Amino acid sequence: MLNIASLIELLAQPQKIVITTHHKPDGDAIGSSLGLYNYLIQQGHHVKVITPTDYPDYFNWMPGNDEVIIFTDSTEKAAVLISEAKIIFCLDFNALGRINEMGELVGQSSAIKVMIDHHLEPADFDDYRYWDINACATAQLVYTFIVNELKNKQLVNKDVATCLYTGIMTDSASFRLPNTTSAVHRIAADLIDAGAVNWRIHDLVYDNSPENRLRFLGLCISEKLEVLYEFSTAIITVSKHDLEKYNINTGDTEGIVNYALSIAGIRLAAFVVERPDKVKLSLRSKGDIPANDICKRYFNGGGHYNAAGGTSTDSLEQTVNKLKLILPEYKKLLIK
Ligand code: 5GP
Ligand code: MN
Repeated sequence: MLNIASLIELLAQPQKIVITTHHKPDGDAIGSSLGLYNYLIQQGHHVKVITPTDYPDYFNWMPGNDEVIIFTDSTEKAAVLISEAKIIFCLDFNALGRINEMGELVGQSSAIKVMIDHHLEPADFDDYRYWDINACATAQLVYTFIVNELKNKQLVNKDVATCLYTGIMTDSASFRLPNTTSAVHRIAADLIDAGAVNWRIHDLVYDNSPENRLRFLGLCISEKLEVLYEFSTAIITVSKHDLEKYNINTGDTEGIVNYALSIAGIRLAAFVVERPDKVKLSLRSKGDIPANDICKRYFNGGGHYNAAGGTSTDSLEQTVNKLKLILPEYKKLLIK
């Protein structure tokens, strides 16, 4: 393991740097990556953000977005950048499987790998680790890493602040999850002081929905929602046909699971969607119901205690039935 002094020494000279994040990047993945990008370019580094896959267009307005390389679109170019990098920052994930085919290239690269992350159970592939599961977002950790470890608060400019604010806002579900501590609010205040226009960022991310997305949400709530009160659980099930009918892209389903969790008395919510190659599950829970445990044990996945995801190669119907059959095992926690 590298220590912080060696990392600071390395960063004192311009370096070839790659920043990457998990596949199907969310607001924190993109926000933390572009926040760090906008910080590092001020020091003359040659920096590229490479995402394993594309991401929703409601993040395309972020500073630095036009410079992002999407691995599935520019595989060869990305492979060269990864092999030539001196440092690879791995943000918002902690196992190489989370970056798909890029995992092998990053694993093979001789670059120093710096992990900045807040997920449970990190795998051992990094040379320097800035990791805290209590952080509400990786963007929060990028901020404290710049300020407390690199001691460069003065380089948190408007672009850095805008991206980091977006990461914190989205991963804390708009500052309302239990990990939104007073320290998080102080960081958000610092970011606003540094130039992040909070109300505009909320508007760009949350009030920027195309009509089809809102109508699809209506369908999910009125017709695709099943409430199992005996298990304090609500499940939204969406087929390939539903996605096609409403012209829905991957990012458009983000956050729909939270509507199921908003029903009074519901403590576990699932959004189960039929993707072209597999069935994807998103689980959200309240209190001591371990969403990550359910995903890890039964659906090849993982995540945070109260927000996790997984996949299944069974049919949509079989996957939902499997989930329902698992519920009795968690009944004591669910009906508390
Ligand atoms: P989402 O439901 O939004 O896809 O994911 C919720 C959380 O679970 C995120 O923190 C995400 O990183 C994690 N997650 C989602 N899918 C998987 C998966 O297949 N494997 C693992 N390890 N984590 C996942
Ligand atoms: Mn995150």
